[in-house]
Amino acid sequence: MADTQVVIVGAGPVGLTLALDLGLRGVRCTLIERNMTSIRLPKMERCNARTMEIYRRLGISERVRDAGLPRNAPMDVFLALSMAGPALAHLPCPSVSEAKAAIAAHNDGGLLEPYQLISQYTLEPLLRSIVADLPSVTLRFGCELISFTQEADSVSAVVQSNNVTGETIRTSYLVGCDGGTSSVRKQLGIRLDGDGNIRKLRQALFRADDLYERIPIGKGRHYHIAEGPLFPFLILQDSTRHWTLHAAASSDAEMAEIFRKSVGLPIEFEMLSVNEWTHHLLCAERYRDGRVFIAGDAAHLVIPTGGLGMNTGVGDAADLSWKLAATLAGWGGPQLLESYDAERRPIGLRNVRASRIAMAGRLGWRAAYQPNIKDNTPEGAATREKIAALFDIEQRKVTEISGIESGYRYVNSPIVWQESGDGPDPNSLTYFPTAWPGARLPHLWLSDGIALHDRLGPGFTLLRLGGTKADTSSLEQSFGKMHAPLEVLEVANQRAREIYEYDLLLVRPDLHVAWRGNNLSDEEGAQIAATAAGRSRFS
Ligand SMILES: Cc1cc2nc3c(=O)[nH]c(=O)nc-3n(C[C@H](O)[C@H](O)[C@H](O)COP(=O)(O)OP(=O)(O)OC[C@H]3O[C@@H](n4cnc5c(N)ncnc54)[C@H](O)[C@@H]3O)c2cc1C
Repeated sequence: MADTQVVIVGAGPVGLTLALDLGLRGVRCTLIERNMTSIRLPKMERCNARTMEIYRRLGISERVRDAGLPRNAPMDVFLALSMAGPALAHLPCPSVSEAKAAIAAHNDGGLLEPYQLISQYTLEPLLRSIVADLPSVTLRFGCELISFTQEADSVSAVVQSNNVTGETIRTSYLVGCDGGTSSVRKQLGIRLDGDGNIRKLRQALFRADDLYERIPIGKGRHYHIAEGPLFPFLILQDSTRHWTLHAAASSDAEMAEIFRKSVGLPIEFEMLSVNEWTHHLLCAERYRDGRVFIAGDAAHLVIPTGGLGMNTGVGDAADLSWKLAATLAGWGGPQLLESYDAERRPIGLRNVRASRIAMAGRLGWRAAYQPNIKDNTPEGAATREKIAALFDIEQRKVTEISGIESGYRYVNSPIVWQESGDGPDPNSLTYFPTAWPGARLPHLWLSDGIALHDRLGPGFTLLRLGGTKADTSSLEQSFGKMHAPLEVLEVANQRAREIYEYDLLLVRPDLHVAWRGNNLSDEEGAQIAATAAGRSRFS
C-alpha cells in the first residue's frame, strides 16, 4: 500500500488550496515544501471573486477577509503624477463591504463573493495553519522533491529533508504545485508554449506607517504614476502600512528614490526588500502525465496584470481535487482525471490571452506619455488629458474582467453533457450568468436568504426546480449503482427556474453544471450519470 494517496509538491497558495480541498474530502495527502517557512516576499495581493467563492465553499472565506485588507477600505485605482496629486484619472472600485451590500441586494444570478485584497505573505501562512489542523494532511516543510518515478499503480517520490537524501514516499498520485520553475514539469519533459522572459521589473516592499491616512488624492489600492520611462506603480498591501513599488529600474538602489518621488509627500519610510522578477506569458503543452499532474504556476505563467496568476491556480486545485478524491474512492471513472487537462488547459491558455490583453491595455495608455506631462502649457494639458482618457478605457481591461474571472466554461469537456449550439461567449470580459453545461452555477439567493451555493454538499447535486414532476429515478439509481454521491434538492424558488432556464440541473462537486434539461429518459439518465462520473456508459 502507498504511504499516502497524494503527494503535493509545493506549499504556495495553489498547493495549500489543493491540500485543503483534498484534506476536507478525507484524502490522505502529504504536502512537501522545500523552504522551512512560507513566502516572505510580496507577490500576489488580490483573491478574485471566483477564488473567494471557492474559499467560501472550503469554509474559509471570512477568515481570509479577517486577515486581509479591512472590509470597508476602498479598492480604487488612480493615475497621477504623484500620490500628492492631482489625480489624472480615477477608477472607483467598491470596498468589500459595498460590494457585499450590492450582492445582498440583487438576485440576478451574479457572483456570490467579491474580491479580497490579501498579501500572499499573509495568505500562505493562514492557509498553512488551516491545513495543519486537517488530520488527513501531513505537512512537511524543509522537504524537497528530488526526483520521481511512475509505476503502474503508484508514484515513488525521492525527497530530501534535513540534508538527508534518499527517502522515498510512495503515493497513488503526485501533483506538482511547484511554481514557474517546476521540477515536476521539467522531469516530465512538458514544454511551456508562448512568450517567456518578456521584460524584467523590480519590486520593492516598503513600510510607511502614516502614508495611507495622508494620501491627498484618496484612498485606494493601486496608484499608477504617469512618469515614463519607469512608470512606477504602487500597490497597497493588506496591513495598509506596507506598499509594493514596481518599476523598470536598473538597480535596487534606485527604488527608494523612485518611491519617495512617487509618493510626493514628506513621509517616513523604510525599504524592506527589493527583488527582480520577469514577465512571462506561457502555458504548458499538457497538464498530466499518467499519475502525475501539474497545477498553478507550474502549468501557466501570466503577467500579474489582471491578477490571473494564483487565481487561475486556485481554479486548477478546485477542479483537480474532487476528481482525485473520486478516483481514489473508486467511483470516478478514467475520464475524470483525463478531463483535468481537457478542462483546465483551455482556461490556462485563455487566461494567458486575457493577461496579454490586460498588459496591452496598460501599455496602451502608457504610450500616450510625453515628457511635457507636468508642463503648465496647453501641450502639457493635452498630454494629461489624452493619457487620462486612454487610462479610463484601457485600464478597465485589467480591473473589470469579471467574465474572465468567473465566467469560464468547460467547453468540450468529456465529463460535461454537450448541448447543441455554441452557447454564450465563454471569453467575455463581463460576467453574464449562464447555466450552460460546463459553466459555474450562477449564484442565487433562496427565499430564506441562504445562498443556493451554500446548500450544495461536497458531492453531486440534482436540482429540481419550479415544482417539476419529472421522473429522475434513472439518474439517481445510476449514481447509486456507481456509489457516487448525489443529493437531490427541490428548489421551489421561481427565480431559480428563471435564471437557470431549465427544470433539472446536475451540479458537480466543484459547482460547475454537468447537465441540464426538463426531463430525461431512463437511457439518458444512465448516460448522463456515467458521463459526469467520468465513465463510459457500461464501465
Ligand atoms: C509581483 C507579483 C504580483 C502578483 N500579483 C498577483 C495577483 O494579484 N493575483 C494573482 O492571482 N496572482 C498574482 N501573482 C502571481 C502569483 O504570485 C503566482 O501565480 C502564485 O504564487 C502561484 O502560486 P503557486 O502555488 O502555483 O506557485 P508558487 O507560489 O511559486 O509556489 C511554489 C512552491 O513550490 C515550492 N517548491 C518548488 N520546487 C520544489 C521542490 N522540488 N520540492 C518542494 N517544494 C518545491 C516553492 O518553494 C514554492 O513555495 C503575482 C506575482 C508577482 C510576481
